[in-house]
Amino acid sequence: KSKPKILVLGAGYAGMMTAKRLSQQLKPEEAEIALVNKHNYHYLTTWLHEVAAGTEEPNKSRVMISDVLNTKRVQLHYDTVVEIKKDEQRVVLENGELSYDYLVVALGFETATFGIPGIKEHALKIENINSSRYIRDHIEYQFARYSSGVDRNEDSLNILVGGAGFTGIEFVGELAKRVPELCKEYNIDREKVRIINVEAAPTVLPGFSEDLVEYAKKSLEDRGVEFRIGTKIQECTEKGFIVGDDREEINAGTVVWTGGVQANSIVGESGFEIFKGKVNVNEDLRAPGYENIFVIGDCSWVMDKESDKPFAVNAQSAIQEADTCASNLTALLRKEPLQSFQFDYKGTVASLGGSDAMGTVLDDKKLYGMSAKAMKNVIDDRYLFLVGGPKLVLKKGKVRFF
Ligand code: FAD
Ligand code: NAD
Repeated sequence: KSKPKILVLGAGYAGMMTAKRLSQQLKPEEAEIALVNKHNYHYLTTWLHEVAAGTEEPNKSRVMISDVLNTKRVQLHYDTVVEIKKDEQRVVLENGELSYDYLVVALGFETATFGIPGIKEHALKIENINSSRYIRDHIEYQFARYSSGVDRNEDSLNILVGGAGFTGIEFVGELAKRVPELCKEYNIDREKVRIINVEAAPTVLPGFSEDLVEYAKKSLEDRGVEFRIGTKIQECTEKGFIVGDDREEINAGTVVWTGGVQANSIVGESGFEIFKGKVNVNEDLRAPGYENIFVIGDCSWVMDKESDKPFAVNAQSAIQEADTCASNLTALLRKEPLQSFQFDYKGTVASLGGSDAMGTVLDDKKLYGMSAKAMKNVIDDRYLFLVGGPKLVLKKGKVRFF
């Protein structure tokens, strides 16, 4: 009798950790495990704002999948998922197709544009290594054009960022570090470059602890970031954003949209029911109505019965969901009961560029400045340890031991 096939789609935090846990938990005779990913590398999505600003190298932010997974246990397919034919238990890829008995959908996020005209066509997005590297190169290109005299329009040096959620804030923090370096390199007066972050809500980081938000805002303003809060982006054009009821134009050579995320559109296109941008999965992380399909990470959200709100959707929860998903797949194969996902919230820390950061850890203890930055580095390295052990921490880790 052939072995059951488990197919994992996407090698982000959720997919990588599921494949890793399955390869550790299941005996070879229990199941075949396969992982499909667009590239032969796994990237650290939580570092992408650094790649986009040019403060971190793209290569430092990615890991060869075959270096960290047991390739004797996990078959790797480097291909792009096109469609999930869930009623036929097969997945269509750009270059072929694969069948499965059990499926884990972990295809991650894509930028949500909320139908705002021009965002799709004109704004740059921090979505993956390539789109982030493109932003870095685009910014540098604007500086090169200006300093060489090809373009003398000062607006082209402006960097406009739409949305001051965590991605927008972390990105402008890195820009506050990078822009002075670029000014020096291209011999451009720092005063000529504006970093403008536009946010519709009455505050940046809406919903986050007020004093931490104030701390972040002040730290960034002190380093030259301009905020336009309570300002809704109505449209994006080739020149910049059109904002507010009076349709004011803000022009810039670089326009980046960090206004929100949703599930990879393949999920909805494959017929999964999408509610508020994601699949609302059962407590055991299975898609409603499907005994053999799990949807995890940024493609889904899980309701917390206690608070009557969904658990947070981020890298921290994606990693924890992978544990529950792998245990539940093991339980299904062994005909044991499944567990409910329970999010163990460990806090939120956001970097603000350089050695600055802020956030809360454990029982809402607040951290600011260098101690928050040290904590952020520990969080980053902890993940490297989980996915690749001490070897990967030594190779890519952010905490300096020497
Ligand atoms: P992803 O990380 O998006 O991975 C999806 C994978 O699927 C990728 O490898 C991709 O190549 C692959 N893929 C996509 N489409 C296809 C396809 N069609 N075929 C094959 N493969 C495909 N969260 C935190 O908890 N803490 C943070 O500090 C934090 N910082 C962040 C900073 C930034 C700049 C951003 C953008 C997000 C941050 N987040 C953070 C959120 C966090 O990164 C996401 O919640 C997390 O990446 C979700 O993990 P995932 O595995 O679901 O998806
Ligand atoms: P988000 O949805 O958290 O923030 C988007 C922001 O854009 C919001 O503040 C929203 O009000 C604003 N916005 C939306 N439409 C707008 C408009 N028309 N005009 C002006 N502003 C508009 O999205 P994100 O920042 O990309 O974060 C995505 C996920 O990743 C979140 O779950 C977040 O917590 C997580 N993340 C976490 C960290 C961290 O923990 N350090 C860092 C980055 C991202």
